[in-house]
Amino acid sequence: MRIDILSGVPELLESPLNHSIIKRAKEHGFVEIIIHNLRDFSKDKHRKIDDYAFGGEAGMVLSVEPIDIAIQSLQGERTYEEIIFTSPDGEPFTQGTANELSSKKNLIILCGHYKGVDQRVREHLITREISIGDYVLSGGELAASIIIDSIIRLIPGVLSDETSALTDSYQDGLLSPPVYTRPAEYKGWKVPDILLSGNTAQIEKWKMEESLRRTKNLRPELYKKLQ
Ligand code: SAH
Repeated sequence: MRIDILSGVPELLESPLNHSIIKRAKEHGFVEIIIHNLRDFSKDKHRKIDDYAFGGEAGMVLSVEPIDIAIQSLQGERTYEEIIFTSPDGEPFTQGTANELSSKKNLIILCGHYKGVDQRVREHLITREISIGDYVLSGGELAASIIIDSIIRLIPGVLSDETSALTDSYQDGLLSPPVYTRPAEYKGWKVPDILLSGNTAQIEKWKMEESLRRTKNLRPELYKKLQ
């Protein structure tokens, strides 16, 4: 899988995309992530990529031209299945979207900034708009990092224990059961006996019951969908 990110503040993407699972996924060739600085595609002598909004709206807007040039140049090299714009008014991002995107070969993700991007970018160049939640960030870089993180861990082989992504919350419409590690007792706080029993069938039953209980209590609307 290859992901090209277009950003006016590429520094914001460095740490989230260069450690832990994503770092390993890149090193093992599961994913290639290329961060492009939009300023490199600006024709302006000061590498400007934004301008004032028409109509007197406060705040700067990312201009069409550098984004168009960047996307055209990438599309000249390969075919992209989706050109995604991160936006608070996009489709809500879910585990289902992450599953779907994890099977794509080439993706572009455009990060907005300031007031957003010129609407013509969205009308003519973008194939999909994704929101990570009903709140507003300063820029799309953190949203892109979240989308990419959740996609990459789903690529088969990226997580060392392959089944672990399948048992995560939302993957089957349920929240995960609680997890514990050693010591079995700390300050009198005990791990549930069942987990120490060695009875695999009973442990699996307990986990399912815990998942159902937590989903019913914490996310009743998800629980209703199961019935
Ligand atoms: N004026 C816009 C918000 C701009 S915020 C509005 O009111 O809708 C600047 C940029 O941050 C956006 O263009 C987008 O790329 C990113 N962003 C902000 N909130 C986001 C969210 N919830 N999900 C995805 N991207 C978001």
